[in-house]
Amino acid sequence: MKKLLIVANWKMNPERLTQAKLLFNSVKQGIKKIRNTRPNRNQRFSNRVEVVICPPFVYLSALKANGAQDCFWENKGAYTGEISPLMLKDIGVKYVLIGHSERRARGETFEMINKKIKAVLKVGLKPILCIDKLSQIPKDIQGNYILAYEPVFAIGTGKPCSVERSKKMRKNADNNFVLYGGSVNSQNAKDYIEKAGFQGLLIGGASLNSKEFLRIIKNVAI
Ligand code: PEP
Repeated sequence: MKKLLIVANWKMNPERLTQAKLLFNSVKQGIKKIRNTRPNRNQRFSNRVEVVICPPFVYLSALKANGAQDCFWENKGAYTGEISPLMLKDIGVKYVLIGHSERRARGETFEMINKKIKAVLKVGLKPILCIDKLSQIPKDIQGNYILAYEPVFAIGTGKPCSVERSKKMRKNADNNFVLYGGSVNSQNAKDYIEKAGFQGLLIGGASLNSKEFLRIIKNVAI
C-alpha cells in the first residue's frame, strides 16, 4: 500500500467564509464516506491517501485546515502583512506551499524561496516546493521537503502535461516524494500516480468542486 498526498490549492477562493466552510465540510464528509466504503466487499483500497487543504490565510483558523499557500521567512517582527511559519504551526498547519509559479510570476525570487523553505523546516513544518524545472531547487536545503512538479503551461489551463513528459521529470528528480500539479482532474489523476510514478497531486481548479475533488481522491486510492 503506497502513501499518497493529495493537496488542494484553493488560491484566492472562495470569496466568502461561508462558502469556504461549505466546501471544506463537504470535502471532509466525502473523505469520511470514502474511507468507510471499500472498493468491493473483500478488498481494501490499494493506496493510503492523506489530504491537505490550503485555503487563503484568512480562513485557516476557522476551518482548522492543515495547509497554507505561502509564508514569510522570519518568525516575528516588523514585516507588515506577512505571516510567519511559527504562526502557521501554532494554528495547526502542517504543510506549506512554497514558490508557487503564480507567486514567482509576481516577483518571488529564488533567494526568497530558499529562505522560506529553510524557515518552514526550522519550525518543523513540511514545505512543498513548487517547481517547473529542476534548476529551481536550492542545493543547500537540509531536511526533508516535498517537491511539486508543476509545468507552468499546465497550471490552470486545462492542458495537462503528458504522462510521458511528467514521468521523465519524476525520474530525474532526486527526491522520494514528488507531486504532480497542472490541470489534474478525475480522468487523468490516476495516470500520474500509476504510470508516471508520482507520490501525489497538487490540485488547483478541480479542488474547488467538492464532487470532482472527491472523485480524484477515490480514483487514486483504489
Ligand atoms: C495549482 O494551482 O498549483 C494548480 C496545479 O492549478 P490547476 O490544478 O488549476 O492547474
